[in-house]
Amino acid sequence: MSRSFDDWTSLLERYFQVPGQPIYILGCFARHVTVYSQQVRALNLIAALHVTGVIAEGKTVAIIGGGAAGVMAAAAAAHLKATVAVIDQLSAPVGIQLHNRHRYLHPSIYDWPDPSSADPDAKLPFFPWSAGYAADVAERMGRQFEEIRQNSNNRLTAHWEATDIRVQYERGLRVGWNPRDSHQKAETHLKCDVVIMAVGFGLENDDRVWKNSYWSNDDLDDELHHRSPKPRFLVGGVGDGGLVDVMRLCIRGFRHDKVLTSIRDLDGIAPLGDDLLEIHRQKLTDQDISDRFAVKVQPEEKTRRLSACMDRSCGRSTDRSGLIERFT
Ligand SMILES: Cc1cc2nc3c(=O)[nH]c(=O)nc-3n(C[C@H](O)[C@H](O)[C@H](O)COP(=O)(O)OP(=O)(O)OC[C@H]3O[C@@H](n4cnc5c(N)ncnc54)[C@H](O)[C@@H]3O)c2cc1C
Repeated sequence: MSRSFDDWTSLLERYFQVPGQPIYILGCFARHVTVYSQQVRALNLIAALHVTGVIAEGKTVAIIGGGAAGVMAAAAAAHLKATVAVIDQLSAPVGIQLHNRHRYLHPSIYDWPDPSSADPDAKLPFFPWSAGYAADVAERMGRQFEEIRQNSNNRLTAHWEATDIRVQYERGLRVGWNPRDSHQKAETHLKCDVVIMAVGFGLENDDRVWKNSYWSNDDLDDELHHRSPKPRFLVGGVGDGGLVDVMRLCIRGFRHDKVLTSIRDLDGIAPLGDDLLEIHRQKLTDQDISDRFAVKVQPEEKTRRLSACMDRSCGRSTDRSGLIERFT
């Protein structure tokens, strides 16, 4: 079903636009935010701006933030012949993830148990990537961005290490910033028709005691930690990142890329996925769920199988009973 002009306009107003301004926020307050979903959001935003005539040849677009979403928006807008500038405080595209060698990115694993979640390829028109460690994925996207920029006939420019970026709305829209390079102290301004804020969730506040970012490299799974006297770790948060860190601490030789397939291939996981899909499809109530779906694999059995599976995939013992304390 094709959308009408009004559909696109209301989509923009509802999800992206700062009310009454030619300024659009790219998923910073959205739910279900992953690298892949942000890239898809970027494509949707540019498509909506194109259909509604906001982005076209002769228009200038400033994109603040050159992460996965910002560079995707930039590539798509330049493809539509707009003039595009990407401005970011870091020194390279997808710079937040660029140096992290232990966090694993997958385009669709969050959609499990949907069958499409087994596909490791992000089938996107720009920056096609496959599941891999963050540094490799980011480095590949950065290279592709550079190729697109070089082939853009100067339609696409990038301004890295910019400081004090500000959006001004007097006598037309402008973005101003200071280059960090001490040789070019002069402030830079760009007149533009549209501003896209692709600044993500923001970085961790670095004046706290804990200075590492989630995307910094750390030595949690360093073998040295497992010598005596044994250190104790507190993992705060039980989202996917926290759980992965628990596994990194507890499983010697843990490999995030291998554990995914190990868990997916466990007996009982596929039928569990089918049950979840049915619950999702039928929008069942809690009562329906407890009546109709008995627990099919006992938790202890699951843990034993998982442990055996880890042994196979990691090649090391995971018999570390008593190692994990859980606080509620
Ligand atoms: C703790 C945590 C765990 C996550 N785990 C996963 C995961 O496992 N898999 C997954 O797919 N996603 C994960 N995500 C989400 C993922 O990080 C984001 O979806 C993705 O980085 C969003 O891309 P983006 O381009 O929108 O924003 P970002 O990647 O945040 O990029 C924003 C860009 O804007 C720039 N910027 C921001 N503020 C300014 C400023 N004031 N001036 C100049 N430049 C600025 C930044 O330097 C950066 O380059 C996680 C996020 C968090 C916080």
